[in-house]
Amino acid sequence: MTRDARMVIVGAGLAGARASAELREAGFDGPITLIAAEPHAPYDRPPLSKAVLLKEKAPGDCALFGATFFSDHVIDLKLATDAAVIDRAGHAVQLDNGERIGYSRLLLATGSSPRTLDVSGSTLPGVVTLRTVDDARHLATRLTSGQRIAIVGGGFIGLEVAASAVAAGCAVTVIEAGKRLLMRTVPQEVAARIEARHRNAGVQFRFGAQLAAITGTDAAEEVCLAGGEAIRCDTVVVGIGAAPRTVLALAAGLEVMDGIVVDDRLRTSDPDIFAAGDVCSFPHALYGRRVRLECWKNADDQGRVAARNMLGEDLCYREVPWFWSDQYELSIQIAGLPAFGSEVVVREMGNALLLFHLSADGVLVGASGVGRAVGRDIRIAQMLIGRNARVSAGELADPSVKLKTLLVAETA
Ligand code: NAP
Repeated sequence: MTRDARMVIVGAGLAGARASAELREAGFDGPITLIAAEPHAPYDRPPLSKAVLLKEKAPGDCALFGATFFSDHVIDLKLATDAAVIDRAGHAVQLDNGERIGYSRLLLATGSSPRTLDVSGSTLPGVVTLRTVDDARHLATRLTSGQRIAIVGGGFIGLEVAASAVAAGCAVTVIEAGKRLLMRTVPQEVAARIEARHRNAGVQFRFGAQLAAITGTDAAEEVCLAGGEAIRCDTVVVGIGAAPRTVLALAAGLEVMDGIVVDDRLRTSDPDIFAAGDVCSFPHALYGRRVRLECWKNADDQGRVAARNMLGEDLCYREVPWFWSDQYELSIQIAGLPAFGSEVVVREMGNALLLFHLSADGVLVGASGVGRAVGRDIRIAQMLIGRNARVSAGELADPSVKLKTLLVAETA
C-alpha cells in the first residue's frame, strides 16, 4: 500500500464499520471515509427485535463503538449520506451531495433491505418493516398490551418480533406462505420446537397463506387472505426476507448475481473494489460453493478480512457460518450450512435438541440446536465443521458421548 493510499467504505452496518476499525487495527494510518446512509453512528442490529422492542434497551445503547471512536481513530464518518455513483475509471465515489471522494481501495458493504409486500393496502399506516433502529423505535411504541399484531412471514424477524410482542401483552398472528416456519434456514425438527413454544405462548399461525390485501380506512385494520379469512389487526409487521442492495454495484458495471460477486478474498470483478456482509456472494472455501449469508457473524468476519485484503494481505475467507436467534428462553443456533448435508443425526438432550448434518461422504457440514443451552455444543460442532471432520453418526447421536471428545479424537 502506498503512503498516499485512501480507503473508502460505503455502508456503515456491521461489515462496513468493522472494516473501518480493522483498517486502523492493522496499522493503516491514511485517510478512511465511512459513508452511512442512516443518520446514526453504526449500531448493532440483534437487540432491535428483542431488547429494544421490549424497551429493556434504549436505541442509543446499541452503538457498536464508543461515542468518540470514529473521531479518536480519525475515521471520517459521513452520516445521512448516500453514495450516488462509483467512478471506477477515476477511482472516486460521488456522494448524493455532489462531493467526490477518491479511493485507492473501495469496500461495498451496502447490506440488504427488507422486501415489501405488493398487495393493495401495503402502504397503509400501521404496516411496518423492521431493519433499522428508527424502525425498532417506531414498532416499540406500537407493541402495547392488548394490541393485535399480524406478522407476515414466519422467518427470523417475524418470530423474534412475535416473542417480543407476546411479552408486551399483544395478541399475535403469524401468517406464513410456506408449509412451516423457517423453511429455508432451519431443519424441520428444530422449527417444530420453535413453533410449539410460540403456540404455548398464545401465538396463532396460518401456514400456506397467500395475502390478498390489507384493508383499513386510515390505517391497517385487517389482513385478508386469499382463502377469504380476514384477520383483525392494529399493526402489520412485514418480515418476508431481505434483498441485497446492489444498485450502486450494478450501475458501476460490477458482476452481480444474487449479491455482488466476489472471490474468496472478497474482491469483486474490479480488483480495487471489495464487498462484504449481506450484500456479497462469495465462494465458500469449506463448501466449494457460492453462497450469500445474511447474518451477524458473517458481516463481522468479512469486514475484518476485507479490510486486511484491502491493505494487500491475501486472506482466504473460510469462516464457519454461525447464526443465532433468541426467542423466549430458547436459544436457536446454527453452525455451518445444514442445507448442504444429506444425512441428519438427532441428539436428544432433555432440555435441548441438537441436529448434525453430514454430507454423503460423512463430513460434518452443519449443526443446529434449539433449547436452553446449546451454545457450547454448537461451538464444538463449529470447530469440527471448520476441520472438515468425519464424525461417527452413532457417537453424534449418543448424548452420553461428550462432543469435546470427538474434537480431541479429530485433533489426535
Ligand atoms: P427470512 O428469515 O428469510 O424469512 C422470511 C419468511 O417470510 C420466510 O419464511 C418466507 O417464506 C416468508 N414469506 C415470504 N414472502 C411471504 C409472503 N408474501 N407472505 C407470507 N410469508 C412470506 O427473512 P426475515 O425474517 O424477513 O429477516 C430478514 C433478514 O434479517 C434475514 O436475512 C434474517 O436472517 C435476518 N435476521 C436475522 C436475525 C438473527 O440473526 N437472529 C434476526 C432477524 C432477522 P419462504 O421461505 O417460503 O419464502
